[in-house]
Amino acid sequence: MDCIFCKIAEGTIPSNKVYEDERIIAFYDLNPQAKVHVLVIPKLHIACADEINADNSGEIAYIFEKIPQIARKAGITNGYRIISNCGDDGCQSVKHLHFHIIGGEKLSEKMA
Ligand code: AMP
Ligand code: ZN
Repeated sequence: MDCIFCKIAEGTIPSNKVYEDERIIAFYDLNPQAKVHVLVIPKLHIACADEINADNSGEIAYIFEKIPQIARKAGITNGYRIISNCGDDGCQSVKHLHFHIIGGEKLSEKMA
């Protein structure tokens, strides 16, 4: 499968990593939308939030367990926003489930 985030998870495409273990990887977004912008992905290929099910939801729970540690490691100390774009109307450009962690500054009150 030609999935850029699977390749980042495999290490065949480089990334600026914040955190990695056997199940997930967190790395800085190439095109940051805030002072700190990190992406967290499961190594397992899941296309988007719409494909979360009873078989793979453990990976998502695990991501959310690790997000506080990842945010701290990225230098975020005063709160953050978690975003996951899904599908065409959600403007998802990379079809491998990922969570944007943005922070490091006061964010807009508008979300959409
Ligand atoms: P989305 O629009 O929610 O699918 O977000 C995809 C994000 O991936 C965008 O913010 C891109 O800047 C980011 N991105 C794409 N390719 C890479 C890459 N190789 N390394 C880091 N971030 C990337
Ligand atoms: Zn993938």
